[in-house]
Amino acid sequence: MKLMTIYAHPADTITNCGGTLARHAEAGDETVAVILTHGGRIHPNKYAEEWRKDDPDAAIVDADVEAIIANKKGELERAADIVGISRIHTLDHDDAMSTVREDVVDQTAELIAQEGPDVIICDYPLNAAYTTNTHTAATMTALAAIGRAATFLKNLDGSAEVNVRQVFFTSYPTFAADALSVNGVRNDLYVDITPVVGKKIAAMDCFGSQGYDGLFARKLIESNNGEHGRVAGVNFAEAYVRHFNETHPLLPVTDAALAADPLTRHVTYSEIDLRASYPTR
Ligand SMILES: [Zn+2]
Repeated sequence: MKLMTIYAHPADTITNCGGTLARHAEAGDETVAVILTHGGRIHPNKYAEEWRKDDPDAAIVDADVEAIIANKKGELERAADIVGISRIHTLDHDDAMSTVREDVVDQTAELIAQEGPDVIICDYPLNAAYTTNTHTAATMTALAAIGRAATFLKNLDGSAEVNVRQVFFTSYPTFAADALSVNGVRNDLYVDITPVVGKKIAAMDCFGSQGYDGLFARKLIESNNGEHGRVAGVNFAEAYVRHFNETHPLLPVTDAALAADPLTRHVTYSEIDLRASYPTR
């Protein structure tokens, strides 16, 4: 299987689905990351915190946009190596992007046509009126590009149509364990990232320029992936909303459901002391 991620910022790929990508890489699947913006404005901790000092380091606070982008790309490349991303496509648009642009849809559709992914992972698009949310604009761009790539004709576009088989949305902000509790959309698929949680921490530790290393990496994974893991019955999980319905020949029951022991699951999914196992450097 070939997976493609399409996200607004470099670190989004790791925070949202880095564990899933690591598991697929270990299973021999190819993963490709598309990053729409350079991400220089999102959590610019390295630069903003230095500015606040009485005697700031000129080499840091005088960094221009090229230096900021180059540093962020270095962080991304190190993180990608850790989780096993095969290839990165960075489009380097300014992350002030607040709407869908035709030229970015074209660029993204061309990458979909070039790579031909089976599945795409991107953020769940929140309310599109909230235009300061670059993540929503990124997913609107991705969905438009998926639609555009599906209509490519070899004689007109140079490449034939690409049919993406499934889109998995990340970052949907609910923690419901069943279809009834929230009367609406919920995360309906979990990937157990417990076996690779150390890789996700190490990958997040690469993003020092935005303060994602150290304490934040552990906080995010303990709380967010930990709570999704509680719902999923495992120590740590990444959560998804499936875009398309699934078709099966028979009603499915998952291996995880068959293996679950309601009596002990809350104990077994609480076994790992993340901060003791993966201390900050
Ligand atoms: Zn982001």
